[in-house]
Amino acid sequence: MLGILLDLLFPGYCLVCGKLLLGSHHFVACSDCWKEHFAPYSGVKCKTCGYPLKLKPGSFPYCRECVETGKHFEFKGVDYFGLYDGLVEIAIRELKQKKLLPVAGEIGKSIRGRLLNFIHRTEANLVVPVPESKEMLKERGFSPVEEILKGAGIQFRRVLGKKEGIMKQSLLGKRERRKNVKDAFYPLTGLNGDTVLLFDDILTTGATADECAKALKEAGAREVYLFTVARSV
Ligand SMILES: [Zn+2]
Ligand SMILES: [Zn+2]
Repeated sequence: MLGILLDLLFPGYCLVCGKLLLGSHHFVACSDCWKEHFAPYSGVKCKTCGYPLKLKPGSFPYCRECVETGKHFEFKGVDYFGLYDGLVEIAIRELKQKKLLPVAGEIGKSIRGRLLNFIHRTEANLVVPVPESKEMLKERGFSPVEEILKGAGIQFRRVLGKKEGIMKQSLLGKRERRKNVKDAFYPLTGLNGDTVLLFDDILTTGATADECAKALKEAGAREVYLFTVARSV
């Protein structure tokens, strides 16, 4: 009943095909468009940073940048649902910038299978979301990353805290990002040799996840793996 009322008061339109969204709408796209365009990436990835590689079978599974810079992260492996583009990008933006909370549930449901598969492969026994600062939580009213995990039906534990006054990574260039998040995260609680699955929405340079993994190891994690909804390209 409430859904019908909301539809009448605030009609939503599919951002892909323009169709009026009624009933089971996602606030972003109709279910047909969502199914088609909220799509997973299934190609080859750089083993270090997850960058999508267009490789022929048997090619070297690392991106040029990781080879040239000898990049190394505190997290041992990485996977993500899709590329940060098209409907995946739009959905994350709507959730974070327009605070459209129901989108978190839809994203969660869509990524659940892939996330569970990665948890199984890595034998992670604990899922930890990348935290927001108290300041940011207050401004938005919710943590998008935690809401996505709830939508996916995945249990998690808040093990990390984030210091105040850290600038948004999205406002910064590649080099500034690492400096900006240096020592930005700290453990809230101790761990006992756990294998942790660190969860975030977008993977760009990996600087945030790297700092989180460092803090998780300080807390007592044995190994850390990273899973994000999307990978910037
Ligand atoms: Zn549509
Ligand atoms: Zn790479």
